[in-house]
Amino acid sequence: MIKALRGTKDILPDAIGLWQRIEATCRNIFNIYAYNEIKTPIIEEASLFTRSIGDATDIVQKEMYIFCDRGGRNIALRPEATASIVRSYIENSLFQSGGISKLFYIGPMFRAERPQQGRQRQFHQIGAEAIGSDSPLIDVEMIALSVKFLEKLAIKNFHVKLNSLGCQKDKESVIEKHKESFRPHVGKLCIDCKGRFEKNVLRIFDCKEESCREIAESVKSENALCSNCAKHFKQVKEGLDLLGIQYAIDHKIVRGLDYYTGTVFEITQESLGAKDAICAGGRYNNLVRELGGKDTPAIGFAFGVERLALALGKAEGAKGEGRRMDVFVTVAGELLYNEAFKLLDFLRSAGITSDMDYEARSLKTQLRRAEKLGVRFVVIVGEEEFKRGNIILRDMENHSQKEIAVEDIVKNII
Ligand code: ATP
Ligand code: MG
Repeated sequence: MIKALRGTKDILPDAIGLWQRIEATCRNIFNIYAYNEIKTPIIEEASLFTRSIGDATDIVQKEMYIFCDRGGRNIALRPEATASIVRSYIENSLFQSGGISKLFYIGPMFRAERPQQGRQRQFHQIGAEAIGSDSPLIDVEMIALSVKFLEKLAIKNFHVKLNSLGCQKDKESVIEKHKESFRPHVGKLCIDCKGRFEKNVLRIFDCKEESCREIAESVKSENALCSNCAKHFKQVKEGLDLLGIQYAIDHKIVRGLDYYTGTVFEITQESLGAKDAICAGGRYNNLVRELGGKDTPAIGFAFGVERLALALGKAEGAKGEGRRMDVFVTVAGELLYNEAFKLLDFLRSAGITSDMDYEARSLKTQLRRAEKLGVRFVVIVGEEEFKRGNIILRDMENHSQKEIAVEDIVKNII
């Protein structure tokens, strides 16, 4: 038997209601904040990600799915969407619409990680990008939007952690500072972190090894902001206070991807255990230029949808959210199947969620199935009644039934 690949999961009909609710809430809230949906391809030229995310990051070094296509091109399954959206922004001149481009996306991402609870190889993200403004108010809006999204989903016990890496120059001095803090501990770091120490010291803060976490926990960390970046960061904090959004400053939130500068943030949620990051984001003021566009400041964030579903499922044991069926059409006597099928078509044309059993089984079996489905009404098409132009309508909620004319069926249901 062929099974789903390790680290991938079917989202079965039982769980799909939860996913649909998450997506519907996203579309609703993100539209209210004036973000428009964008869909970019799942495959891209691999260099898009190596250039933007950085070739010393785990995502690029260890987690990216790359293959050579029939034309000998290096293709990657996207590990995240920001680079794709920036590519699309430049390629389609989205900046020509004037002002700021506010975009959001929903879709699958791919990373070859060790699968575990809340970590898959194909997972899904919901994210937003605001390209074209360096206003601190946009940073505030981004965080406000992510908080509002969680609130609308009724997810509680989450925490916003905030930091600023500053501009490229500030980031370099922060990297120097952290290098000095980690230097006495290098011998005790894991092999990967020894490499990170040389190439990407900030990424040590994201290491999942217990011993590295302890070291990262123990080292001193502060940011080193120039006066411009310090002012921006102060305005972000003031804006969050203005909207009454709670947050904690945490200088260890550094986001290991190369493209981040300035404001960075993470949202954790208590019920998720070790993989408690539900959302991560930050500014990437240099990325548009690095990918060949004009110098354009930007900021974005991404939620992990599996983790949203996990947090929601834990809160309410959410199951069986699929749309409830209104009518199940049953047939007493094989000869009436075509009539019943026509009636079903009529109900569906009237917008009534309805179904029948197509196997010509006994009425008893059909009724049992209707019961199982938890439908509101059962229609029984029987010979005697049908000769009179009638059917039997059984109300499954109050267990009553009556004989009505076929043409009256809709008004008896709505
Ligand atoms: P982590 O530290 O958990 O590996 P990350 O820093 O790699 O996260 P980002 O690239 O910032 O994560 O992605 C944003 C969000 O996407 C994460 O906060 C998480 O909710 C989700 N996410 C990332 N990788 C996975 C994965 N492999 N499976 C499921 N969700 C994921
Ligand atoms: Mg990761």
